[in-house]
Amino acid sequence: MNGKVEITVVDPSAYHVYQPAWLLIPFRIMHQNEAIRPERSLLAETVKFRQEKAKRIDLNNRVVETDSAKLQYDFLVISTGARPDYSQVPGLDKPDMISTLLITRLSSEKLWEGSLEAS
Ligand SMILES: Cc1cc2nc3c(=O)[nH]c(=O)nc-3n(C[C@H](O)[C@H](O)[C@H](O)COP(=O)(O)OP(=O)(O)OC[C@H]3O[C@@H](n4cnc5c(N)ncnc54)[C@H](O)[C@@H]3O)c2cc1C
Repeated sequence: MNGKVEITVVDPSAYHVYQPAWLLIPFRIMHQNEAIRPERSLLAETVKFRQEKAKRIDLNNRVVETDSAKLQYDFLVISTGARPDYSQVPGLDKPDMISTLLITRLSSEKLWEGSLEAS
């Protein structure tokens, strides 16, 4: 972009997690170490990375607040992901149903190690 724009990524996590890997790890198509990469390694050098949480967004003044800074922006992209609420799905509201039906990072790693039995 020839230095015409400044891009800052704000994320409390230093690592990018490739979630579809949780389906591949139990079948040993991918190793768990390949699914988690440093966030910095995926960004262009010109992109600034701040490893901290966006705590507040002031839409009127176009400011994102973190613990250590107030970041002024012209354009803001919010991509904080989804937080599934399984209690909204009839039949999926029991904790044991969730752990047996859904592939998560923890269950896929246990399946890789052979320490979790799929039911
Ligand atoms: C088992 C499995 C298989 C999947 N398979 C596929 C597939 O085949 N194809 C497909 O398209 N999708 C697939 N998905 C879905 C896909 O992985 C997700 O849709 C995608 O990762 C969502 O990306 P995201 O950036 O919206 O959210 P996330 O990847 O969840 O990233 C959200 C980021 O926001 C950060 N964050 C949260 N709160 C704050 C805050 N206050 N301030 C700053 N940062 C914050 C988090 O640290 C995180 O880094 C799969 C998911 C799973 C679990």
